[in-house]
Amino acid sequence: MRALVTGGAGFIGSHLIDRLVSRGDTVVVIDNLSSGNLDFIQNHIDSGKVSLVRGDITNYQDVLSAMSGIECVFHLAANPDIRLGTKITDTDLKQGTIATYNIVEAMRIEGVKKIAFASSSVVYGEDAPMPTPENHGPCLPISLYGASKQAGEGLISSWVGTFGLQAWIFRFANIIGTRGTHGVIFDFIHKLKADPSRLEVLGNGLQEKSYMEVGDCVDGILHVMANSNDSVNLFNLGSHDTASVRRIAEIVVEETGCTGASIEYTGGDRGWAGDIPRAMLAIDKMLEIGFDVNYNSEDAIRHTARALIDEIGL
Ligand code: NAD
Repeated sequence: MRALVTGGAGFIGSHLIDRLVSRGDTVVVIDNLSSGNLDFIQNHIDSGKVSLVRGDITNYQDVLSAMSGIECVFHLAANPDIRLGTKITDTDLKQGTIATYNIVEAMRIEGVKKIAFASSSVVYGEDAPMPTPENHGPCLPISLYGASKQAGEGLISSWVGTFGLQAWIFRFANIIGTRGTHGVIFDFIHKLKADPSRLEVLGNGLQEKSYMEVGDCVDGILHVMANSNDSVNLFNLGSHDTASVRRIAEIVVEETGCTGASIEYTGGDRGWAGDIPRAMLAIDKMLEIGFDVNYNSEDAIRHTARALIDEIGL
C-alpha cells in the first residue's frame, strides 16, 4: 500500500513508519520538521522505502502535492504542546483544525478514501467518567489543543458522511517511549540533567493519567485498522491502569541515579490551565477486537525513562 504519514518524522509517526515499512508499504511523509527529527526515519529514506515532502500541512498546495497516488492517510502532524494554547491562541486552530481540513479536502480532490487520525483522550474534557468509553458525550474539551482534536474528528466524520471517506479515529492516552521529544518524562530528565539536586514538578503531583508505550500504540493502530471496517471506526487506545505524576517523578529520580534530588511541587491540582488532572480511557473496544498492550503505565514509564536517559545522555 502507498501511505501518506503526516508528521512522519515525529515521535509516534516514526514508529508507525517502522511498522509500515516492515510490512512492505511505500510511505510518503509530509513534515515541516518543527518538532520532528529526520534522523528517526533517515534509514528508511536511504533505503528508498520512504520519501519526504518537506512541507507544511497548513499549506493546502503542499498537502495536495503529497496526496497524489496515496491509498491511505495517517494524519499525525499537529502542534504537540498542549500548554502552548495558554499563550498563543491560534496555533491549534491552524495546525489542528485548518490543517485537518486541508488533509480531507486534498483527499477528496485526489480520490483518497482511507484516513487514520491521531486524536486524544483530552477531547473528553475533565468531567467524564473514568475510565471513559468512546460513547461518552457530550465531549467538552478544556484545552485549545483538545478543541482542535474534536474539530478534526468532526471534519473527518463529515467528509465520511458527505464524500464517502472511511475513517479510523484514535483517541490516544499519553503515549511515551523511545524517541520521545516532549512530555513529562522527557521534561523531568532534562530538569535533572540541568540540576541533579532538585526536581520541580508542576502541580501537586497527584495528577493521574494512563500511559501507553509507543510500540503498543502503533501496533494498536494497525491492528484496529485491519480488524474494523465501519465507515467511522472510533477507538480509545490506552493501557489498563494509571500512574500519578508523583510516581513518575520517583521513577525518573531512581533511574537517573539522582537519588539525592528533592522533589518540589509547585502546587495546585493541575500542571497548567487546560491540563486534565485525572484521565483514564476505557479500552474494552480495543480489547474486544483482539488487541492488548505489552506494557501497563508504570512499566511503560520505567522503560521510557531508561530509553530517554540513554538518548538524552546524563
Ligand atoms: P511529534 O511532535 O513528535 O510529531 C508531530 C510531527 O508533526 C512532527 O514531526 C512535526 O515536525 C510535524 N508537524 C507539526 N506541525 C506540522 C505542520 N504544520 N506541517 C507538517 N508537519 C508538521 O508529536 P507526537 O507525540 O508524535 O504526536 C503525533 C500525533 O499524536 C499528534 O497529532 C498528537 O496530537 C497526537 N497525540 C499524541 C499524544 C502523545 O502522548 N504523544 C497523545 C494524544 C495524541
